[in-house]
Amino acid sequence: MELQKYADAHSHIQDFENIDQIVKESTDSGINHIICNSTTFDFLPPSLLNLYPFIIPCIGLHPWYINKEQNVEYEKMENILKSDERIQVGEIGLDFIKAKEKEDQKRQCEIFISQLQLAIKYNRSMSIHCVRASGEMLKIFKKQLKGQNYNAAIIMHSYGCPKEITGSLDKLYPNFYYSLCLNMKMEQLNHIDKNKLLFETDAPYQYNPNIVESEDKKSHPKFLIKLIQDCATYLNEPLLAQIVYNNFRRALKL
Ligand SMILES: [Zn+2]
Repeated sequence: MELQKYADAHSHIQDFENIDQIVKESTDSGINHIICNSTTFDFLPPSLLNLYPFIIPCIGLHPWYINKEQNVEYEKMENILKSDERIQVGEIGLDFIKAKEKEDQKRQCEIFISQLQLAIKYNRSMSIHCVRASGEMLKIFKKQLKGQNYNAAIIMHSYGCPKEITGSLDKLYPNFYYSLCLNMKMEQLNHIDKNKLLFETDAPYQYNPNIVESEDKKSHPKFLIKLIQDCATYLNEPLLAQIVYNNFRRALKL
């Protein structure tokens, strides 16, 4: 029997010091793809692509790293996207816990929209961070996706939006995917179509000892397997691992 393969839909594995070891342990465990998100444009995905071909690198400015004075170098991002079509867009989005003032929220929206437009222009998938901003996010998607010839996946990372938002997103665009992390709530599984489901570890972040304990208190891509097993038990769906792996391959056109 062939060993089940897995795909980690969201990580920051560049933030590990021992990346070679993490990559080896992941592949040995059956992790076949890992999406690796940047948080600023200084991260150079091509180096990751060449070293670890199963890693899918993304370029983007994370909403936590928006600095008020900074001149955002979209050209740098665009050049990275142009350099290799395997590079996707992420992590981008809105976080209204981080930005409480109207003015800061407006700036987050502007920067999010500019990056989203680059993803659309190059037809790349997007990894989306959305915290307490689902209404605004939905409005932006409605406007920006309208009339576009775009068919890549939009991966809602560490998904926790209300089910009404999931329904609206599904109606708006067929390639939204909802990625659940180690800190997910099982009830979320009741409101998401199985064929739209992905799983992620956000490694080394979002450590959750209730799923897997580890001495260094960091999450690891290999923890994905236990997370999916727990969800398969909850859903009483023994084929869940295969379903979400197929979802990932469809989403990323692999
Ligand atoms: Zn992240």
